[in-house]
Amino acid sequence: MTETMTETMSGTTSGTTSVQRVARRKPIGFSAPSVTAAACDAAVSVLRSGWLTTGPRCMQFEGALAAYLGYPYAVTVQSCTQALELALRALRLPPGTPVLTPSLTFCGAVAAILHAGYRPVLVDVCAETLTPTPQTVAAAVHRTGAPGAMICMDMGGYPVDVAALADAAGLPTSRIVRDAAHGPGGDVGRSTGTTSPAATCLSFYATKNLPIGEGGAVLTHDEDLADFIRTQRLHGMSRDAWRRYLPGGRAGYDVVEVGLKANMTDLQAAIGLAQLDALPQWQERRRQLVARYDAAIEACGTDAIRRPVRHPGHAWHLYQVRVPDRDRVMGRLADAGVGTSVHFLPVHHLSAFRALLDPAGAATLPVTDALAGELLSLPLYPSLTDNDVERVVELLADALG
Ligand SMILES: *Cc1c(COP(=O)(O)O)cnc(C)c1O
Repeated sequence: MTETMTETMSGTTSGTTSVQRVARRKPIGFSAPSVTAAACDAAVSVLRSGWLTTGPRCMQFEGALAAYLGYPYAVTVQSCTQALELALRALRLPPGTPVLTPSLTFCGAVAAILHAGYRPVLVDVCAETLTPTPQTVAAAVHRTGAPGAMICMDMGGYPVDVAALADAAGLPTSRIVRDAAHGPGGDVGRSTGTTSPAATCLSFYATKNLPIGEGGAVLTHDEDLADFIRTQRLHGMSRDAWRRYLPGGRAGYDVVEVGLKANMTDLQAAIGLAQLDALPQWQERRRQLVARYDAAIEACGTDAIRRPVRHPGHAWHLYQVRVPDRDRVMGRLADAGVGTSVHFLPVHHLSAFRALLDPAGAATLPVTDALAGELLSLPLYPSLTDNDVERVVELLADALG
């Protein structure tokens, strides 16, 4: 490890200011993707195979994902954002239909509702789980009327009770789209049999639990929904290139309904398939790091740091604490070489969405508004060391002290 000495000014509680010499150690990034040697080999073998776009590797990856999460069907796409849009479009609701979503989510998830032609209705969250509750869902329904669908999002990997939220919304689970971008892992993304949502959407973005770089998938028990997405991910063409080029394949195709260009490549799928083998051990490492964080924060004896709530089915994508004066704390950590992030800026605080959303709805999200200035995501990824965790918490406590 390289250490350089830098001078920093630091104020003390007695009001004096001292110049301290502190050791500046190797920076700790907010996120670092784990990539296995097998994934590297798999990528090279696809590049040499003569087939680069959607083909046999995608089908294999889909089979492996479906088996891993307990669904009969998995369809790969280019992103979770597209997965959400296509899953929502598959519900075939009239244009402008209200769709419930937390405001405390990734902007792409709300954009997906708009791209599908529907109207987002924002739901407030619980300050502990950072997810909607049956009460906040019921309040949104009371305010705006019956929704046509709902996105359930497992914030940070906290597994939401899909059946309870669907009930509160007055919707069957066949009108729920689960944004499991913060899985897979724990219960997040896993089938619950007959109470499963219409579609469960995954992300393989670089920072997520199963990183490919970019990519997404839809998992479902509904064969028609799977067929719809398989067609819609490639312009709506009735037969994709892989099947057209198979022995006995014919050149013709039709487009019955215009689709997207959202198909995954075999290069991505081969990487994902290899990475999937490492996921259980990565998840185990995430759980160990969470226990470290919990213990280190507990040992600080400060109540200025609110820890995330535990759940046996947690996917631990993020370790989100709540701290007062978050922006200042984040700046202090950045100065000390520690990367952190915020999940998320509520969408009703973003200009484009504010202009589109109903202003009355945006005024009814008091918990989300309060959390917006407090949430701080600390580094959490398999290659993080125990010492890194200790240092992050020490610096965090200093910043708050
Ligand atoms: C990352 C993320 C997405 C979008 O995933 P992409 O694959 O980048 O489109 C959607 N929802 C949530 C909650 C996310 O964190």
